[in-house]
Amino acid sequence: MSSNQSLAKRDLAVLWHPCTQMKDHESFPLIPIKSGQGVWLEDFDGNRYLDAISSWWVNLFGHANPAINAALKAQLDSLEHVIFAGFTHQSAVELAEKLVDVAPAGLVRCFYADNGSAAVEVALKMSFHYWRNQGQSQKTKFITLENSYHGETLGALAVGNVALYKETYAPLLMEVITVPGPDCYVREPGETCAEYSMRRFELMEQALQRHAESVCAVIIEPLVQCAGNMRMYDPVYLSLLRAACDKYHVHLIADEIAVGFGRTGTLFACEQASISPDFMCLSKGLTGGYLPLSAVLTTEQVYQAFYDDYQRLTAFLHSHSYTGNALACRAALATLNIFQQQPIIAQNKQLAAIMAQATERFKAHPNVAEVRQTGMIVAIELVKNKRTREPYPWQERRGLKVYHYALSKGVLLRPLGNVIYFMPPYIITEAELMLVAEVAWQGLQLAVKD
Ligand SMILES: *Cc1c(COP(=O)(O)O)cnc(C)c1O
Repeated sequence: MSSNQSLAKRDLAVLWHPCTQMKDHESFPLIPIKSGQGVWLEDFDGNRYLDAISSWWVNLFGHANPAINAALKAQLDSLEHVIFAGFTHQSAVELAEKLVDVAPAGLVRCFYADNGSAAVEVALKMSFHYWRNQGQSQKTKFITLENSYHGETLGALAVGNVALYKETYAPLLMEVITVPGPDCYVREPGETCAEYSMRRFELMEQALQRHAESVCAVIIEPLVQCAGNMRMYDPVYLSLLRAACDKYHVHLIADEIAVGFGRTGTLFACEQASISPDFMCLSKGLTGGYLPLSAVLTTEQVYQAFYDDYQRLTAFLHSHSYTGNALACRAALATLNIFQQQPIIAQNKQLAAIMAQATERFKAHPNVAEVRQTGMIVAIELVKNKRTREPYPWQERRGLKVYHYALSKGVLLRPLGNVIYFMPPYIITEAELMLVAEVAWQGLQLAVKD
């Protein structure tokens, strides 16, 4: 038995993995990773894999990044964690200062939680509670977009709209108002993405007009619906939405958990529409892919609505045991320092141009309906019929064939259904991007056969 095999066997005897039909592992081996270095992961048999999806969209500056490693080691020697109610520490304070500093204008308060879903729960509860503290307890609903994804806990799942994750649990979920989305994949021929997103906004405006009285907030993923098959839309939608939320007295929650920290070409996706949301949820890249941490940034106006004498019972009593964990905060600080010290956003523009070049040839492929890109995310939509865009039946699991082929060639791609995408760490080189594209191209040929 190889070292991989023996560890995989022990794993399968006791573990249960996320987002996995465990029976699949009767036929597909689990891959035990021994170490990581930059964009590369190495397993226990010595095989290497280029992490082209940033280990589920979290890694920004590579595995075992020297700067983040050093910061974490220093933190470990002074403080690993302390209760965050009644107490504070240097890394939590510095991180909040930095986040407020780089965030869109007006977001001046930072509340920590420990993963993306928890941040979404916090934002939903804060918005609802804000209106309640303002004497508007009739506001109890949320507006969400078709094809959106905001996490897996019950509140986050409720405001999401990906059927695969949501349908089973529907009886457990709060009711939301779901508005048809601005996803440009389905625009009319000849229509620009901006025109389509603008046209679709009319449906959002109608929903706001009808329901504003009972609605706390609209929650959206700015520019890219990542878990919803990397569907993209135009920034104009965000500008219109900001204005409408103001007009109808409804909060805007921007879930930048996947798109924040340079992923879309700007530090935050909201910048491309020059808007500030009322709540911004951050996680994933926040710690450079090192540790679970999330933050909800909000406005002074929201903060003040909770600030009063204890007896008035207006405080936000939400907490998590590991709120403001010192190691996680320090990893996040080290990550923000890299953005501060190096021209990452400018470098990403060059990398994004290389990603565009590397995927150019996919556009003409008879089973590719669209190659779309926003900054450091490029997605290739496989279809059965290019002209009608008829998708492959999901049961055929064509994307999975790309996954297995790519692994055999030393590249970690993990298509979402039949959408192959690249979402690499920002330290990837041109040659490595070319390798990823070549392997994806070969995997595509294999996946569309018969
Ligand atoms: C991943 C993700 C979440 C959930 O974050 P977790 O840390 O996995 O709970 C929420 N929103 C978006 C947009 C995400 O991509």
